[in-house]
Amino acid sequence: MWLNYPNNPTGAVADINYFNEVIEFGKQFDIAVLHDAAYSEVAFDGYKPISIMQAKDAKDIAVEFHSLSKSYNMTGWRIGMAVGNAEIIDALMRVKSNMDSGIPQAIQYAAIEALNGSQDCIIEHNKIYQERRDKIVNVLEKIGLEVNPCYASLFVWVKIPKGYTSGQFAELMLNDLDIVVTPGLGYGEYGEGYIRLSLTLPDDQLDRGLKRISEWTIPSQ
Ligand SMILES: *Cc1c(COP(=O)(O)O)cnc(C)c1O
Repeated sequence: MWLNYPNNPTGAVADINYFNEVIEFGKQFDIAVLHDAAYSEVAFDGYKPISIMQAKDAKDIAVEFHSLSKSYNMTGWRIGMAVGNAEIIDALMRVKSNMDSGIPQAIQYAAIEALNGSQDCIIEHNKIYQERRDKIVNVLEKIGLEVNPCYASLFVWVKIPKGYTSGQFAELMLNDLDIVVTPGLGYGEYGEGYIRLSLTLPDDQLDRGLKRISEWTIPSQ
């Protein structure tokens, strides 16, 4: 079973009770629990995402995957790590070593620098993302949209007005505002009724987009 918290696309976060339950469930039905923790360092308002390995007996059944893509702006460099149940890690290593043969060494050295160096960059990045989140949430709420709380990840998950599908609403924003958002349906049927906005746009572009949104009246369907 694959999980991902802080979550992309919803920005939802998990607490220890939830992880404890998942581990118990996995153990009961002999299901490996694989946790994608790509956003473990991207959090706001003092919130600190937890690891599934903190859950009781997690090592019996779980593996957690980390990536340097988001924490250290190394997206596309293909470097990360997995920790957890020894048997699963052993199987993963056998599969991996038969499929490819490692990451370019320069990237490995860069990752060592990132992990051993000052972690101030994480605080700096999170401050930038948090400011963008605040601006986005503020403008969306002003025009009457309902925004999910967002304590972590790089995304704002927004409920769209009744009468629209997420595809129609994304198309409307593109046509009316020249703004691209992701329709929730693209993430599966339970994403319908929502759109996803990203915090990764440079500030000047974001400000231009938000200005258009703030002057927009959503046509009623
Ligand atoms: C960005 C992201 C990753 C990181 O993937 P890499 O292949 O390490 O770049 C993993 N999971 C989720 C949910 C992500 O959004």
